[in-house]
Amino acid sequence: MENVNVPELFGSLVFDERVMRQRLSDEVFASLKKTIDENVKLDENVADAVAEEMKNWALENGATHFTHWFQPLTGVTAEKHDSFITPSPDGGVIMEFSGKELIKGEPDASSFPSGGLRATFEARGYTAWDPTSFAFIKDRTLCIPTAFCSYSGEALDKKTPLLRSMQAINRQAMRILKLFGTDCKYVKTSVGPEQEYFLIDKEVFEKRPDLKYTGRTLFGAMPPKGQEMDDHYFGVIKPRVQEFMADLNKELWKLGILAKTEHNEVAPAQHELAPIYSTTNIATDSNQLTMEIMKKVASAHGMVCLLHEKPFAGVNGSGKHNNWSLGTDTGINLLSPGETPYENAQFLLFLCAVIQAVDDYQDLLRLSVATAGNDHRLGADEAPPAIISVFLGDELTAILDAIKNDTPYQGREEVKMKLGVHALPRFSRDTTDRNRTSPFAFTGNKFEFRSLGSSNSIACSNIMLNAAVAESLRQYADELEKADNFEDALHDLIKRVIKEHERILFDGNGYGEEWVKEATEVRGLSNLKTTADAMPKLLDKKNMDMLMAHKIFTEAEVHSRCEIMLENYVKTVNIEGLTMVDMVRKNYLPAMERYLYRLSQTTVLMRQVSDKVKCNYEVSTMERLSELTDDILEAVKRLEVALVEVKEQGDIFKTSEYIRDEMLPRMDALRKCVDEAEMLTSQRDWPFPSYGQLLFSVN
Ligand code: ADP
Ligand code: MG
Repeated sequence: MENVNVPELFGSLVFDERVMRQRLSDEVFASLKKTIDENVKLDENVADAVAEEMKNWALENGATHFTHWFQPLTGVTAEKHDSFITPSPDGGVIMEFSGKELIKGEPDASSFPSGGLRATFEARGYTAWDPTSFAFIKDRTLCIPTAFCSYSGEALDKKTPLLRSMQAINRQAMRILKLFGTDCKYVKTSVGPEQEYFLIDKEVFEKRPDLKYTGRTLFGAMPPKGQEMDDHYFGVIKPRVQEFMADLNKELWKLGILAKTEHNEVAPAQHELAPIYSTTNIATDSNQLTMEIMKKVASAHGMVCLLHEKPFAGVNGSGKHNNWSLGTDTGINLLSPGETPYENAQFLLFLCAVIQAVDDYQDLLRLSVATAGNDHRLGADEAPPAIISVFLGDELTAILDAIKNDTPYQGREEVKMKLGVHALPRFSRDTTDRNRTSPFAFTGNKFEFRSLGSSNSIACSNIMLNAAVAESLRQYADELEKADNFEDALHDLIKRVIKEHERILFDGNGYGEEWVKEATEVRGLSNLKTTADAMPKLLDKKNMDMLMAHKIFTEAEVHSRCEIMLENYVKTVNIEGLTMVDMVRKNYLPAMERYLYRLSQTTVLMRQVSDKVKCNYEVSTMERLSELTDDILEAVKRLEVALVEVKEQGDIFKTSEYIRDEMLPRMDALRKCVDEAEMLTSQRDWPFPSYGQLLFSVN
């Protein structure tokens, strides 16, 4: 492999601060920087100056087009390319780009889902530049990160509410920091999303219609070797994958994405990439780009990158770990235990805010990761359950217990507790082992939300997380601002929050059956198993009130999102159902028939030759396979009925319940028969590559 000069490569296709500082005048740069850091509205003259230099820089780097790059509610990114050309009187063209074009775009947006927000006659939405996320060049096109709204101002994308949620948490956190006398200009949330994915050979992929149409295998018997040996996790990376990763890193670095860690994951053919964390909206943009570029680079290497949450039943699926924290512009991580009791008091209050947020808005967190794909993963003993709980580790748990009971805290090695003026203990960083089964774990100086699916945009989870924590902080600020004695009030508040919300704290095994029982029956936590169960909770009054109070969504936006997510669920499963019918009728049944013909022919011929032959193998296989063809026929008919009935259910809630209660079980029943038949049929006659051929296709 060639040598790469990483510092030189890094960000070479990004209009980042280095480029801005170099190319913009001091005043323009200062003004833009203020917009970026402090959310101050951008001056139009400044926009013109920025656009001009952005264009010049883009042209120098080979770009011919520009696009407003946005994240519609489909969950993927969208772009419409315009070239920079403007005709000049002499018949030639000049390359132009104005501040207006930079700030605002008007894509014909009628085909993006809006959940009823934008009547189709009012086809136009507009895109608005998000100057806090740097522009970059991709495929000879200058991509300008933007938010996407309807003309009446409703957000049609994932970024707008994300930015609003960051503002909400900033507003409330600043109130709290003021009470502590902590001096800073703003608070921002940061995210480091770890991304899992599968790589399989393109040639094998092409032979599986289910993978092509739905991103996952809808059939497939288990291979003799899966992940039982635990030999893949952190195992030696194969040369072909190594080359893919090297290219991927290069492409990501050019785009200023801080790709940092890469390793093999638990399942065969499964890998992970983790970036260094960044501000939430930038991390979100970067993650969307990372997923896109993973697919592109894989293709260039003759492979396909699967981002589906559960491409192979019975084999670990892929998730995304959303490492989340909040910090000040002065460099304080508010979820990092400090050195002094004073710092620790502040830390504990923010910790409480998160604990309370997760408890109060379990359903919002759960539904933020709800998709048809992720439903297969959550609670399947490989990913956290659908029950949301918080893991804190031994030390922090002991501290909270000490506060709750007003008892002294016994530290691990030394008793570090100082019942000083703040009556809050002092302690070192958590050192306990991490609990991999917890959906929401404290990992020293951040929380790791582990329920996200690999293809999810991280926007939704962070919107809900930011919103819920902003709400806890608001309540605390309201209470503490009124207090006569801040320290006493603080102590009482923390104690009370621990008592009221300790039901959400759980350090045990989140995969166990006992936990489901305890969580739901004793603790009253919610267990929303499917998207059909989870998504309607978005419309609960308590959730809508909170999201609207913090100006994260309007009422119409909440409704539209719920509808779009459920529609997505229904459409996804529908396509899967249709694909199954297609594969069964056109391929599986005919293949079984061919094999049955051979078996029966063989039997007849053998018996003609000798009356001593028993033909046990032929006859028993034939009998079972013949039963299975009948079962498969019945099952596929039942699925076909469901595919008709699903259209007759009326509203989207009923339709999604039908999907959950009828469609998915009928799909499972069909699959079971086909997978058994696969084990009985000769490989030569089986129409599609097996799990073994898929999972071990990259060497
Ligand atoms: P692992 O969880 O695999 O052991 P780390 O804990 O080192 O790995 O980090 C996982 C992710 O958490 C990385 O993307 C890292 O950048 C991110 N991370 C670290 N600190 C923070 C923080 N303060 N805020 C958000 N993410 C963070
Ligand atoms: Mg991790």
